[in-house]
Amino acid sequence: MEGSRSCRFVVDAMLKNIVSWLRILGYDTIYWGGGDKEVLSIAEAEGRIILTMDRSLAAIATRRGLRVLLFQENDIPEILARIARELDLSLSFDPIYTRCPVCNHPLKLEHKSGREEWMCPRCSKKYWRGSHWRNISRTLEEARKKASSSST
Ligand SMILES: [Zn+2]
Repeated sequence: MEGSRSCRFVVDAMLKNIVSWLRILGYDTIYWGGGDKEVLSIAEAEGRIILTMDRSLAAIATRRGLRVLLFQENDIPEILARIARELDLSLSFDPIYTRCPVCNHPLKLEHKSGREEWMCPRCSKKYWRGSHWRNISRTLEEARKKASSSST
């Protein structure tokens, strides 16, 4: 798996909690809480892959020739692992590609007094590897293990 971040996603309401993970990993991801019709037209217009727990939405998307991944359970490491396997995506954090978990804009990496900091040019939020970082990397590690152990 190389570091390509070209896949883009649209995520439906039931999987809202996966959105910030995909953004942290550097994937252009939008969340859509509205109707199925809008999800389908966004996916079509912007070439986004649909992530959903809605069986009927997935069926319609497939009929329309759109790319869709249907999930049964809302389990973060499991979902990330499946995305990585099926789309051959990297689950490694990359300080260059990472995006704002709040607004999806690519973050700007800065080196401030010996530590890495990320600034969002759109919403002005700042990020660094704080105490929560350990949980983030643990979850990503778990997802990477799942992705490699269940591949054929
Ligand atoms: Zn932002």
